[in-house]
Amino acid sequence: MDPRYAPLFEPLKIGPVTAPNRFVSMPHAIGHSYLMPNGAIGIRETRAEGGWGIVSMQLSEIDPTSDLAGLPYERLWDDGDVIAHARSVERIHAHGALASIELGHTGIRSRGITTGYPAMGPSVVPILKPDMPFMAKAMDRQDIRDLRQMFRAAARRAKAAGYDIVYVYASHEASILWHFLSPAYNFRTDEYGGSFENRLRLFREVLEETKEEAGDDMAVAVRFAVHELSGPKRILNDGEGRAVIEALAELPDLWDVNVSSWSRDSGTARYDAEAFQEEFTSFVKQVTGKPVLGVGRFTSPDAMVSQIRRGVLDLIGAARPSIADPFLPAKVREGRIEDIRECIGCNMCVAVETIGVELRCTQNPTISEEWRRGWHPERIPATSNAKSVLVVGSGPAGLEAALVLAKAGHEVTVAERADELGGRSTREARIKGLSSWGRVKDYRIYQLQQMLNVNLYPGSVLDADSIADFEADHILLATGAPWRGDGAGRTRLQPIPGFASRALTPDDVMDGAAIGSIVAIYDDDHYYMANALAADLAAKGHQVHLISPMPALSAWMGHTLEQPRMIAEMKAAGVRMYPNSAATGWSDDGLAIVRGDTGEALPTIAAATLITVGTRLPDTRLSTALMEKGVPFRVIGDAECPSVIQGAVYSGHRHARELLGTEPENRIFKRERPTLFL
Ligand code: ADP
Ligand code: SF4
Repeated sequence: MDPRYAPLFEPLKIGPVTAPNRFVSMPHAIGHSYLMPNGAIGIRETRAEGGWGIVSMQLSEIDPTSDLAGLPYERLWDDGDVIAHARSVERIHAHGALASIELGHTGIRSRGITTGYPAMGPSVVPILKPDMPFMAKAMDRQDIRDLRQMFRAAARRAKAAGYDIVYVYASHEASILWHFLSPAYNFRTDEYGGSFENRLRLFREVLEETKEEAGDDMAVAVRFAVHELSGPKRILNDGEGRAVIEALAELPDLWDVNVSSWSRDSGTARYDAEAFQEEFTSFVKQVTGKPVLGVGRFTSPDAMVSQIRRGVLDLIGAARPSIADPFLPAKVREGRIEDIRECIGCNMCVAVETIGVELRCTQNPTISEEWRRGWHPERIPATSNAKSVLVVGSGPAGLEAALVLAKAGHEVTVAERADELGGRSTREARIKGLSSWGRVKDYRIYQLQQMLNVNLYPGSVLDADSIADFEADHILLATGAPWRGDGAGRTRLQPIPGFASRALTPDDVMDGAAIGSIVAIYDDDHYYMANALAADLAAKGHQVHLISPMPALSAWMGHTLEQPRMIAEMKAAGVRMYPNSAATGWSDDGLAIVRGDTGEALPTIAAATLITVGTRLPDTRLSTALMEKGVPFRVIGDAECPSVIQGAVYSGHRHARELLGTEPENRIFKRERPTLFL
């Protein structure tokens, strides 16, 4: 191990338990709820194996009145739920890590629609999410006494399951303790409302009682957001974040601190740099003598060790970096820093959680597949029959497939038309705000360059004849999918008059096409490309108009938690925004638009250049020509099915594993089946 990183591997006493090192895999939603415990255990066990000293369970509901049904979280409602938790703890302990659980009651964030129990909170207010026309019930004194008992009982169950650390969760808007603390939600006039000390009362009581229940067996951690950076309304009065830490300073065994709201806590690389929370959380260690844990999308051991050396944090928390590379701590320990698969800060992992499916990651295609497909993030089964493989195209799909096959022992050649390897990961990384996209190719190219059984050929255009002449045992076409320039997009599947051949595509822009001083960008894709180009061109001095047929600009960025900040970015950059405006034609006058909902005509947008960001279409000429020659091949990545970069990486990985012959022929992977009682 590099001695500079030794502080990251010093054990730390936390109340009655001792963490073996300073790496904490944080509580975060993983999309495997109590309904899919095997998949969830697979994810957590892999992290323990990868060297995280503490591995945490995500938010776990403590009672049916805290109901997040439909969202993939955990439950510890009664003793029947302990069995799955105990198994999870056992698998984490098997690798020497501590197991922690984040107990929480979701208060006015609960739904109540499936259990039939009303959501509860300090006062009668609309429930928080989704925006259903439901109100929360104001808790009376008996409800509060019952809630305290719920927390006690849940802590006892956590102890029975074998957890080492139990959380009192009081962060973000998903905790009833936060709701009581917040003057935005708490309008009570009794001893639980009004003054700061009254609003804090429930939090303090629950914390003291959890400490009692934990005794000498478990440490008690508090997760609390010390600063509010965004949110629908003001949550805490000025300075109250600090006041909470001061008031409860020595009560918990561990402070786990972050910022609110969730969208700011999970800031993307486009808007927040590594260690971005330091300016908000660094005061905590001056206020308490207890260990402090924090996050900040840490991927570099230098940044991590700096936090510890400078007394900012005692423990380095990671959610996304532990998703992207479950073996990050092991790689630091073994001095393999270059092997770390760094999170790119894209929030695809967050997006799939908001959609309600199992965790996915742009950098780590094996996440969620540990149990059901048996995929390990580091180990690929070795082949006993090495073959030659030709990969055409070096984008995320081609590079990932090449890496898997090379690790298995095949002789791999990658041919790339461009002078630089990396496909869209290289090209898009040049757009303002997207430089971290380059980590997708950086990691893979470095790995491939270390292997003797790999040949990389940038600047090599292959046609069907040259591919056939190569006589590889296996051919993978990873040639990507260019953007369409005819205006066809998500809301309008047909071309728009005047677009074809006269509009530029994102590919043209990335290839350096000439762009007029006034630019109209028509976004019928609704993710990052249109607004990233808008910001990029605005920074270069163009006057940019950003137009979308949908009521909100780039609505899909709501899933990556970036949409509000993107709007602020556009405003600051001087980009003129036109939501709810559907293009009907492009002519010398400019872009003709109508209202997206009613179809009423709107004033034409005069611009010299039109960039259309709609859909992408694979170029099938190569595959057609190979088919005619009778040469067998696989089409992978965007060339098979245009998608996000995560989809291309996953596709490359899956196809490679299929080529290895380790995947089920009938495509049926292991599934978690509900128990049948009748
Ligand atoms: P994906 O996201 O599926 O990996 P990309 O678009 O990122 O796809 O990458 C595809 C790569 O394939 C591009 O870099 C492109 O230059 C390369 N490519 C396309 N056609 C050929 C070809 N005939 N020969 C060599 N490289 C090609
Ligand atoms: Fe990081 Fe993106 Fe993976 Fe999430 S999906 S862990 S943000 S690389």
